[in-house]
Amino acid sequence: MNGTKATFLEKSEISFDEEHWQKINYNTSCYEKSFAKGKVNYRDMELEKERAYNLSNKSLMNLEKLLVDFETHFNKNGGKVLWARDAEDARKLIFDLLTREKVNAVTRSNSTVLDEIDINAFLGRKNISLTETGFARFALQTKNLHAYHPLSSAIHLSKEELNGLLTEQYKLKPDSSPKQMVNFVRYQVSEKTNKIHACLTGANFLLSDEGGVVLTENEGNILKATSKAKIHIAVAGIAKVIPSMDDLSVLLPLLSSHATGQSMAAFNNIIFGPSKTGNPEQMYVILLNNDRSELLSHEKQRKMMSCIHCSACVSVCPIYKNIGGYAYDSSYVGPMGSVMTPLMHGLKEYEYLTSACSLCGKCTEICPVKIPLDDLIIENRHLVATEKVGDAKLESMFKLMIWHCKSRKRMDSPLFMKKIEIKRYLNKQTWGDRRELPEFAPKSFSQWWKEKK
Ligand code: SF4
Repeated sequence: MNGTKATFLEKSEISFDEEHWQKINYNTSCYEKSFAKGKVNYRDMELEKERAYNLSNKSLMNLEKLLVDFETHFNKNGGKVLWARDAEDARKLIFDLLTREKVNAVTRSNSTVLDEIDINAFLGRKNISLTETGFARFALQTKNLHAYHPLSSAIHLSKEELNGLLTEQYKLKPDSSPKQMVNFVRYQVSEKTNKIHACLTGANFLLSDEGGVVLTENEGNILKATSKAKIHIAVAGIAKVIPSMDDLSVLLPLLSSHATGQSMAAFNNIIFGPSKTGNPEQMYVILLNNDRSELLSHEKQRKMMSCIHCSACVSVCPIYKNIGGYAYDSSYVGPMGSVMTPLMHGLKEYEYLTSACSLCGKCTEICPVKIPLDDLIIENRHLVATEKVGDAKLESMFKLMIWHCKSRKRMDSPLFMKKIEIKRYLNKQTWGDRRELPEFAPKSFSQWWKEKK
């Protein structure tokens, strides 16, 4: 990622686009309704969340051992674990594997970690063609657009707009129904997966005790693509490892209920390595660090590594609902992005993301693994202040404001209004053109009180 505060502010302007606002709010409200329906499947959701919280804590405490055990077991199953320090390392490993096997086309699944290493652009530069297997991403790919939301990649588009993307590139009726569009894409993806020999996926969980890779989905494309391809390369962040298959009984239902409101996703695959009878003949897991160890070094914020990527916090975030997914310039958007990105990719560069939060706490309330997202954002703000990497103009504005407001005499001075004008000017520089300081009353309360008396 290479976002800057200026591009963040520029892209955030979309929040003033009424149509965008309506679409994204309508689509996220559908999510909230499904979640509310799904929640009734739990007799005691809080207890289950507590279990998931303890489980993820245990996994983080034993991360080193779990990772080494996963490697041992997965290699024993006939697969191969590869370690990537950063995104460049991961891309190189993928490229070397594809070149060695003379593969010039791949399929890929909907995965934030594949976006994190910017695999589409990289393979494009290397002339390796890539086919998205998910419906929304397939449509977005026609215009090389990124996913807008980690789960519902095209949450910002209407069905007419999706239809428009598809008809521009394919022979599809302009007024196709959602069902016709889905069937059309399914057919196209099927045709491609039958011919393409390599498949890239992420991983929802890695099972340390048996060396398994867990992939969950609703469209069935991962299952199809991985069983057709000769080579399956799964990329997973190092924190995806959990102790054992038993833990899935807690995590998978929580993941699907918080992602889509389903009690379980339609397809849940556990792959233990290459197939003994068919495809994939080869299977690799790339374990990606990419500054996760930096995040793990922060005592409080390391909790973020328990994230199961259900995207619930994104779907309920009022900031995300206004500024949308492209402002963050990262595959990690919303509250999760505001916690992770500054710590993983530079507090100084991404300090502005710590301000992209109203601290309403909806994210913390919904998180299935009890990550206190709003607290962690405050922790990040604290770090920004103690390390003095914040916006210097904003800081001086507040200092001036505090100095001013601390003295009654200064507040009552005839120069007061002049100073307010200065503050207004500073505000425009730091808060943007659309926000105004409230109008100050011509007289202070004490003046008014004295006169009344
Ligand atoms: S932080 Fe919690 S709510 Fe947000 S994506 Fe991760 S697990 Fe889901």
